[in-house]
Amino acid sequence: MNSDVKEVLITANKIKARIKELGQEISKDYSNKFPLLICVLRGAFLFLGDLVREIDIPLSIDFMAISSYNGQTESSGQVKILKDLETPIDKRDVIVIEDIVDTGLTMDAITRLLITRKPKSIKICTLLDKAERRKININIDYYGFRIPNKFVIGYGLDYEEKYRNLPFIGELKEEVYKGGINKKDGK
Ligand code: 5GP
Repeated sequence: MNSDVKEVLITANKIKARIKELGQEISKDYSNKFPLLICVLRGAFLFLGDLVREIDIPLSIDFMAISSYNGQTESSGQVKILKDLETPIDKRDVIVIEDIVDTGLTMDAITRLLITRKPKSIKICTLLDKAERRKININIDYYGFRIPNKFVIGYGLDYEEKYRNLPFIGELKEEVYKGGINKKDGK
């Protein structure tokens, strides 16, 4: 598995240190509140797990799964709900927890969908931000790291469902996906 990694971009220690900072920031911003953290499955599962342990105020969590790329190499901006939330979000302070924001189309579609359910507030927290690839202007409230336009795997992020268990963020060797990145459902 490690031999498919071209380069380690962010080490496990760096991820841990940055998540600690994010947790402190969120704890401060939401003191006296009871935020609902919505984890976008599956890529953000490790991020959520580590982040909540660095937040020292009461919170609740829920999960949603959506399909993103629709079989294309690029996001379509259309999201299909594969697994919906179990918590009503009206009057809640929602924080959407995502693994990576690339073009921004997926996150834009998710937030537009959630807004129809009348949360009190909604913020976005992503571990990784490929800002240079943005196609739509979205406001990211918290991010872990800005990364260049490289296809990355590890720490929850996959390629064809593999590599999620790598403890670091790495760039995948081109020869592994030479047929093209063709993500379908399940993020
Ligand atoms: P967007 O709609 O912002 O273009 O795409 C967001 C989704 O695309 C992410 O949630 C993720 O599933 C996928 N994605 C974008 N860039 C990468 C990447 O470098 N590595 C992996 N594994 N997934 C990515």
